[in-house]
This record gives sequence, C-alpha cells and structure tokens, in this order.
Amino acid sequence: MEPIGILKKYQNHFKELKIEENQIISLQEGNTPLIEAKHLDGVLKDVSVYFKVEGMNPTGSFKDRGMTAAVTMAVKEGSKAIICASTGNTSASAAAYAARAGLKCIVLIPEGKIAMGKLAQAIIYGAKVIQIKGNFDDALNMVRECAEPLKLTIVNSINPYRLQGQKTGAFEIVDVLGKAPDYQFMPVGNAGNISAYYMGYEEYFNEKKIEALPKMMGVQAAGAAPIVENRIIEEPETVATAIRIGNPASWKKAVHAANVTGGSIFKVTDEEILKAQKLLASSEGIFAEPASAASLAGLINYSKEHDLKGKKVVCILTGNGLKDPDIVLNQNLSLQKIPVDIKALEKAIAE
Ligand SMILES: *Cc1c(COP(=O)(O)O)cnc(C)c1O
Repeated sequence: MEPIGILKKYQNHFKELKIEENQIISLQEGNTPLIEAKHLDGVLKDVSVYFKVEGMNPTGSFKDRGMTAAVTMAVKEGSKAIICASTGNTSASAAAYAARAGLKCIVLIPEGKIAMGKLAQAIIYGAKVIQIKGNFDDALNMVRECAEPLKLTIVNSINPYRLQGQKTGAFEIVDVLGKAPDYQFMPVGNAGNISAYYMGYEEYFNEKKIEALPKMMGVQAAGAAPIVENRIIEEPETVATAIRIGNPASWKKAVHAANVTGGSIFKVTDEEILKAQKLLASSEGIFAEPASAASLAGLINYSKEHDLKGKKVVCILTGNGLKDPDIVLNQNLSLQKIPVDIKALEKAIAE
C-alpha cells in the first residue's frame, strides 16, 4: 500500500467532514508501529504488552493525527491563520501543518516549561512563538479570548476535528491486533487523547469490528492530577511537561471514557515516570518522552494490585524522547573521560 495519512486511510470514518482528497493537508501521519514488549518479564509477568509508538509521527507526537484534520478543515473553511496554546507538541505539530498548508501559525507557550526540541520545532517551522508569563491553562484561556476577534482558528484539542483525527490511533491498534486490547494505558493532560481513543473504539464497536471496548486507563502525574483529585490544580508541576495541566479541557469526556469501560484515572509520581522511561529505553529500545512513560509507569503500578495474567495491554507512547534530551542529560551527567591511550581504554571497558 502506498504511504498515506489518516484522513485518506480511514476516509469512511470522516464522511461527515466532506473532505475531497485534494483538500487533505497531510505529512503522512499515522501508521505508527505497535511493538510488543520482549523484556518486561521482570516487572510484568505473563502480561502481553504492546507499545503504540506515536513518537514516529511526522513531528514526533500523536498530535499530528489531530492536526491533519484540524488544519485541513481550517483551510476548507477559509481560515488564513491558526493559533494554539501548547506545552510543546501541539505547537510543533500546528507549526508544521500550517507550513504545509500555507497558513500563518501563532503559538502561545508557558514560560520556561517547554522541552527544547519542541520549541526548536515551532521556531523552524516558522510559527510566531509567544511566551506567556503563566502556565498552560493561562495560555489556553488567552487563546480562547483572542481567537474570535482576531479571526484565528483554534487548533487545541477543543477544536472538534482534533479528536476526530486522533481517534484513528484506536483503529490502527485494532487493525493490527485483530481485536481490542483488554486494557489501554495512556497519559492524560488536557484529556483530549483519551477521549479520542474512546471515540475510535466506540466507532469500531458500533460497526461490530470489536466485541468490547478496552478498559481505558488514564495516567496523570502526581503534581498535575486534577481529575484524580477532583479539583483544579492552580500550579501543576511535573517533569512530564506534556501533561503539566491543571484544568483539562476534556475533563468530563475522560471520566466518562474511564467509567463506561470499567477503567480508571489515577496518578504516578515523577520518580516512577523517569524510572519507566529508562526501563523502556534500556530494555525495549524505545525512547519516549516522560509524559509517554507515564503509561508504562501506570501499568506497572496497576499490575501490583490487579491480576493482569494473560491480558493484552496497550500503552500509548505519545511522544518521542528526543524532544526532551535535557531530562536525560540532567540526571546522568557522569561521563567517563580517558586519555588517548589504549591501555586506559581497555581498563575503562573492563570496569
Ligand atoms: C499532548 C500530549 C499528552 C496529553 O494528551 P492530552 O490529549 O492533552 O491528554 C501526552 N503526551 C504527550 C507527549 C503529548 O504531547
């Protein structure tokens, strides 16, 4: 099959949007690998674990699935410019798809709390990047306020087409496994993605392509867990900057997705996230950013108290680890240095 993006691949699921093929703005997003874990026996015995590697998307995160839909529709509806608030990945994706479409792109980012790789992306794709002396929730409020008077299309996940595009992740998982997994673990920030996956599974369920929905397990970071604690967090804090959100836009939808499927939304600590990130990279060869590793951290914790023997579990790895190299380097800066001397090298290797 020729490489195609998600709008064309799953065109039957986008009929209501009435998109002509030549209107599609795509960078061939989607079609990401579903990789089976091989070396997690030590922590997850007899569980069949798969990683959906969304970091393999064109700009390195799942946001591209939503952005192809949001930007295609923005152009179709005559928009000339898009705007978003972002912890990083939305801005990178919006900037790239805007460039592809010939649209202007404005991104508002919270001051100081954005991974360097993501910021570099937004800049090089040509977006107008504006830092806000506040957090993500402040930035999103400002976007909501200025979009209409300035005739800007919002491409945050409150844009309904974003979730439509992101639902295709669920289709791909079922298409590969041949059925729905028993559980799906994924990070929850603004809660759009868990809502989108739920929508995707539900569509396949209604078409009788699956017999049951997976239990939707949403994982928040302990310092940014508004849904778990059932209150708005004014100053969310976590190393997983992509889910550093205190007042999720799709809060109710996420709770619904978890409740209806028999899943839940719970939290893990930053320490557990970083441990899972390292485990994932060093034992499976997959480098995901901290927010993504929350899914594995959540699975490991959950498995300590629930019997997952024989279950099929998918973890959504939402973004690429290369986006945030600082998080790794800041923890592990003890590189060994030796002289240009073969004996010293032999000694270093033997150590
Ligand atoms: C956006 C993002 C999330 C959170 O997704 P929501 O839809 O906001 O819940 C998680 N991980 C990464 C890498 C992201 O970019």
